[in-house]
Amino acid sequence: MISQAQAMPVAAGASLKKVAAPSPELLKELDQLIELAQRQGFRIDSIHVAQAMLNQKMLKTLEQAIFNPDRLAEIKGKSSRIEFIVEGSIPSYLLTEPALKSEPIYKQVIGYNLCKSCGLCIDVCPKKVYKDDGYGKPDVALRHTEECTGNFQCRQCVDICPENTIHLTLADPIFKSVLYVLLPNPYQEAMRQTVARPDFFVLNPLVQGLLLRIPEKMPAKDLRVSHKILDQCNFFPILKINGYSRHLVDSKTPEADLKTWAKENFRNPELVLDAVYFIYSKLPSIPSLKQGKYSFDHLINRVIDEIILPEIAIQQEGGLDFLRQIIESGFVAEVFSGAKKRPIGGLLPPGTSVAWKTPYGNDVPKYTHLEKCLGPECGLCVTHCPEGAGGENAAIRMVPLVPLGAIPSLVRGLSTYLLNLEEPSNSPKIEDISKKQPFEFEVNLDYCKACGICISCCPHDVIESDVRIFDIGEST
Ligand code: SF4
Ligand code: SF4
Ligand code: SF4
Repeated sequence: MISQAQAMPVAAGASLKKVAAPSPELLKELDQLIELAQRQGFRIDSIHVAQAMLNQKMLKTLEQAIFNPDRLAEIKGKSSRIEFIVEGSIPSYLLTEPALKSEPIYKQVIGYNLCKSCGLCIDVCPKKVYKDDGYGKPDVALRHTEECTGNFQCRQCVDICPENTIHLTLADPIFKSVLYVLLPNPYQEAMRQTVARPDFFVLNPLVQGLLLRIPEKMPAKDLRVSHKILDQCNFFPILKINGYSRHLVDSKTPEADLKTWAKENFRNPELVLDAVYFIYSKLPSIPSLKQGKYSFDHLINRVIDEIILPEIAIQQEGGLDFLRQIIESGFVAEVFSGAKKRPIGGLLPPGTSVAWKTPYGNDVPKYTHLEKCLGPECGLCVTHCPEGAGGENAAIRMVPLVPLGAIPSLVRGLSTYLLNLEEPSNSPKIEDISKKQPFEFEVNLDYCKACGICISCCPHDVIESDVRIFDIGEST
């Protein structure tokens, strides 16, 4: 069986016709192979996946690689359980929970003669396995045993019990190890031909390139006031300071930030301030500029070098046109203009978190106890993160290092073997992946807004708070 963590469903309406259904004869031959293994004491899981992916070539591969007496004897020495998995997109009707997530794998053995009814185990369990029996003890019968993730990944109840009277054992020794058989996935191609439905995303009005309207009376030299106005008008100067792109309109210390920028870019701070005042003072008179982001790294340099230092007068019409060209050259062609300008409700188009660089604050995540992490089975930190939900430019990305279907066994610390039939090979080898790291996390501090949500939502204390040192401007 497979879960959402293991494969992506193909969207409704996808072109799946090209994957031919296996003939009844082929399915019968597969049944015979599976029965051969079952007669030798094997448990075979996710048979429906093998059936859905079946073709003549795969049947032959399965017979050579697994379902023959010699090979089964070799596999028996490693595992008595075989589970079929695939990578990539599959039809949603094939998505089911794998055995390790839907069946009771662990038994919680409690010495009730020692239990002193403190209820700590009930409270600490992140999976709500225990129910109070009305006297502070974990109920013997009412238990969500199938939710327990066991000794290796959790054991919080075992560790917290002051009487040391909770022990976890495998519910069935067959779960001690597993051989995952990774099959080729013919549905992958069908997914590539799928067109996402156009009403899936909400567009930001700024996509339409609305024109900028700055009030005549904006006080160019009062940066706090002018930034408030520019922010409301959707004009966003972006500056790279200390290696991070920042929205200057959000700065509490704009003058100090500009001085820091001047120092980092070997420019005279007074000239930098003059360039910014100059741009702001002219903005109300320049027609046809678009709302959106402007790279001030670029604009400040150009205004200093091409207008202020050569003492170009731009009062006349041609001069203003020259300034308009300079400002337009700094336009950042991104759809969105800042975190606070996100449309309310709906989903954002993929890849737009590049527009939300918000590198302020500390309290950024550091994944220090990965051995306690359930990875794709949990994913709370990734899905709760407001910055990008796991995509290319997200603040947090979970990167699998093994086939996704093999992760439930690895996170539970069980012996895990992999037979990769995805790659064509005359003699596919069984690989022991038990010690492999199943996934890692990539944290992109450009997008992390230091909200701390990932840290507080993790049920297994995997993430610690790390302090990011970010020197914004000068203190004087
Ligand atoms: S090991 Fe963890 S998940 Fe299992 S019962 Fe104990 S606290 Fe709950
Ligand atoms: S933590 Fe131990 S002593 Fe406390 S209720 Fe649970 S089993 Fe009993
Ligand atoms: S919330 Fe915690 S356990 Fe869940 S995926 Fe994130 S780090 Fe892992």
